[in-house]
Amino acid sequence: MLSIEWTASQGWLGPRITPYQNFSLDPATCVFHYAFECFEGMKAYKNSKGQVRLFRPDKNMARFNKSSARIALPNFSGTALIDLISKFSAMEERFIPAARGYSLYLRPTMIGTQRTLGVGPPGSALLFVIASPVGPYYPTGFKAVSLEATDYAVRAWPGGVGNMKLGANYAPCVVPQLQAAKRGFHQNLWLFGEKEFVTEVGTMNFFAAIRDKETKKKVLMTAPLDGTILEGVIRDSVLDLARERLVPEGWEVEERKFTMSELASAEEEGRLIEAFGTGTAAVVSPVRNIHWKGRLVNCGLREDQEVGEITKRMKDWIEGIQHGDEEHPWSLKV
Ligand code: PMP
Repeated sequence: MLSIEWTASQGWLGPRITPYQNFSLDPATCVFHYAFECFEGMKAYKNSKGQVRLFRPDKNMARFNKSSARIALPNFSGTALIDLISKFSAMEERFIPAARGYSLYLRPTMIGTQRTLGVGPPGSALLFVIASPVGPYYPTGFKAVSLEATDYAVRAWPGGVGNMKLGANYAPCVVPQLQAAKRGFHQNLWLFGEKEFVTEVGTMNFFAAIRDKETKKKVLMTAPLDGTILEGVIRDSVLDLARERLVPEGWEVEERKFTMSELASAEEEGRLIEAFGTGTAAVVSPVRNIHWKGRLVNCGLREDQEVGEITKRMKDWIEGIQHGDEEHPWSLKV
């Protein structure tokens, strides 16, 4: 593990790479009481030539610093942390399988370590990075998921911190997730407000491909970054690739608010083409249907189909870049 301590009086101390080990923390440490914690999720990939790569680590660093600043924890130079994570990944390269879909999951984390029951800015902090090898999300091929639209709880709200990767955002999401699972759904779909805007799916961003009612054009859309949506690295990558590679084929790409009833109308009128979640863990996760107000909204897949065309192409493009099969500025050789 990589660790770096910080104190308000001395700033950041020297980084250390040590064997994975327990922490010893005073029970009054502020992280235990007031959730001074933020984190990132990223991966190191290895290609068949043994080259180790990170995917858009600058995006994770920018988000990490935004999260830490929001909870009065210090910032750490993004480029310096990329350097350290690169060294760490290179050192642990024996744990990165050189095959498509496999990677080393990296979890940068920052906690407030001051011993105090007073609520205030922590006078000390610890930044650490742990890692674990991970295999493909869909080892036997894609499996489209069924979602339950959650209408009794919200994940995030305007003016809140839903666009930050704070640990405090995640614990309250587990019960609605369990509720959905109890009723037989793989994930829950987070709606917001009386109009039931579609926001995110579980811990992924959500995309829908529809045919526009008026223009008849094919549109790939996702919720805009209005402060309630996590600024997903894969979300941003899908948008960029769609603008570069799908727009020339006649697609339109939109970051805009859309409601559950808009998706349901699109389905009824045969205009819902496909839907998928995006995130570092799975890259893309195809959605079969959404349970909403006692009905099942079918997201365009045939019964014998597990993935839509756009979802599959996005996964192939992004994985190709992550593993370095396609040379691309997003992929950083360590
Ligand atoms: N939304 C939420 C709530 C998440 O936790 C994640 C995972 N970080 C995402 C979306 C997807 O983000 P990314 O593409 O950066 O993994």
